[in-house]
Formats: sequence, structure tokens, C-alpha cells
Amino acid sequence: MSEFKLVSRHNKNEDSIISIGNDTIGGDDLCLIAGPCAVESDEQLDEIARHISQIGIKFIRGGAYKPRSSPYSFQGLQKEGLQILNKASTKYNLKVVTEVLDTSLIEEVYPYADILQVGSRNMKNYQFLKELGKLDKPVLLKRGMSSTINEWLLAAEYIMLGGNENIILCERGIRTFDTSARNTMDIASIPLVKELSHLPIIADPSQGTGKRSLIKPMSLASLAAGADGLMIEVHNQPENALSDGFQSLYLDQLKGLVKELKLQANLSGKSLNIVSRIPERI
Ligand code: PEP
Ligand code: MN
Repeated sequence: MSEFKLVSRHNKNEDSIISIGNDTIGGDDLCLIAGPCAVESDEQLDEIARHISQIGIKFIRGGAYKPRSSPYSFQGLQKEGLQILNKASTKYNLKVVTEVLDTSLIEEVYPYADILQVGSRNMKNYQFLKELGKLDKPVLLKRGMSSTINEWLLAAEYIMLGGNENIILCERGIRTFDTSARNTMDIASIPLVKELSHLPIIADPSQGTGKRSLIKPMSLASLAAGADGLMIEVHNQPENALSDGFQSLYLDQLKGLVKELKLQANLSGKSLNIVSRIPERI
């Protein structure tokens, strides 16, 4: 018997499907979340939001509160960042995925988020997880960078035990002896989590590799391994980004990637529910 109970396949055999308004995560539709690492300005987010909505993507990501390793790095625009997210998401009809850094910020972030992101650094903040368990909005639970799959599923158990069953897991790479990439993208965790749990799992190849050129192959591999979707960092000017520019796709790269993801999705009998809002050029 596993230590986790509610999130386990033994407890519920069929895959959980999380509803976010009229969209779903899990099941046969693959979900795509794209956007900058951090919200930086009105102009930046407007350009990115317009582009991703034209592609047909329904979820925008963007940190207003950023958990940075160095206190001297850009910490996010905070409340102003949330307002910018709200403006762009309303204008382009996108759903918002944004990080909550701790319990004291839940009240502030909650109204602006359709999905509350729990960062890798917070996966073991158990008191915080208990508070998230009391909410009625979906939580995107990133894997702790040094956490085992068992610890990750137990973290999800904390949230579910509080009554919130809307949990989406996100593989974002782990620390290993190899430092050639920012993290080691643990693709095997995807089918393993699917065996152990009924929760949907998506992959974040941006934090997972820290390298723009690896985003496409790792996205395709994650879908082939059974991921329910992807979260991808994209920027209108990656070289000027205030965080994670080196792992952010250029806007035109995202469009190319989506085409390939559609083909890959069809191969695995799923569909990437993305309908471009701009006519294809012949
Ligand atoms: C992010 O998504 O930008 C981020 C900080 O992720 P993680 O918590 O996985 O490092
Ligand atoms: Mn980032």
C-alpha cells in the first residue's frame, strides 16, 4: 500500500479531469499553457497574449510574484503584475496560471488566477499546501527540484485531504549530478505518476532544461510519454527578459512547435484542442 491514498489509482481508477470554466485538463484533450516567466510590463504581456491567443492557446502563464534564488534578482511586479495579467487575459480571452508564493498571498492572488501555481521551491511547504486544500480553484503543483515522486504525490495528498480535488501535477525537472542542463528532465516520472495516481500531469520543459533548443524535443517526448499537456515559457524579446530569457521560446518558434505538437498528439490518440484564430498562409 502506498502512503498516499486519495490521489492514488487504488482509490480511483479513472483519470481525473480538472475543469476550468469550459476548458479541461486531463482526459483526451491536451492542454497548452504558454507565456513569459514573469510579467514585466503592459506592452510585453499584451504582445505575448495577443500572439498566443492568435495561435489558439487558451491559457497564459506569467509570474507576478517570482521565487528567485537571489534576492537581488527581479522579484516580479507583484500587485501591478496581477493587474497586467488581468487586463491582457480579459482582452484576449485567456485563462491565467500564476504563482502564489505563500499563504499570506493567497487572498491577493486568488481573484486573478484561474489556476494557482505552486512553485518547485514550495512543494514541501505543508502548512501552505493545507491552505490551498481549502480553496475551490485548481492548483498546479510543481515537483520539488529535489523531491521523489512519492514526496510529490504526498504533497498533492495534503491539498486533496483539505477538500480541494482540483490538482494538476507538473514535472519541471530535478537536480542530479549532471549540470550540463539547468535540470534533468525526468520524463519517466510522467508514465510512472500515471500508474500511481489518477491526477493529470503536465510537463514544463522550460524549467526542465533551461535551454531554448531543448524545448521542442522535450515537449514532444513528454507528450509521447503520456503528459496531459505542457507549460512553455515564451517571450517577445527573450534577450531582454528580466527572468529566464535563455529558456524562453521566440514567439514565432511557439507557432512552429504547436504544429508539431498537433501531429504528436494525434499519434497518441489525443487531440491538441487548439484552433488557430489566424488564417494559415499558403
Ligand atoms: C516558473 O514557472 O517560472 C518557476 C519559477 O518554476 P519552478 O517553480 O518550477 O522553478
Ligand atoms: Mn521561469
